Amino acid sequence: METISDVKQCLNCSKKVIGRADKKFCDDFCRNNYNNHLKSQTNNVIRNVNGALTKNRRILESLLPEDESHKFVPKEKLLKMGYRFKYQTHFINNQKGQTYFFCYDHGYRETENQLVMIVRTFPLGKR
Ligand SMILES: [Zn+2]
Repeated sequence: METISDVKQCLNCSKKVIGRADKKFCDDFCRNNYNNHLKSQTNNVIRNVNGALTKNRRILESLLPEDESHKFVPKEKLLKMGYRFKYQTHFINNQKGQTYFFCYDHGYRETENQLVMIVRTFPLGKR
């Protein structure tokens, strides 16, 4: 008699798998297909996060004039431009305990009146 624990399904096609206890796929095709699919899902996640980060960076860059070290803009404006606040590359706490959130070389910190102060990592002339 076959018990439930003996019945194993191929992770790719769900067909019954016969063989060693640790066998997970019916054949090489199913194993490759399954692993390639997993890999492409991972690649999609990475691509989407990279896309969000570079878009965030581009938005910050577009709002900070090249010859200025910082700029106050309404937080709402960033949202309207498609800024996604949950994506950041890193953050920095300054000596005053204020937190700057960065996407690569551009960042911001929230200030009063629903504004954010946009900065870049190396202000012009201070490299
Ligand atoms: Zn299969």
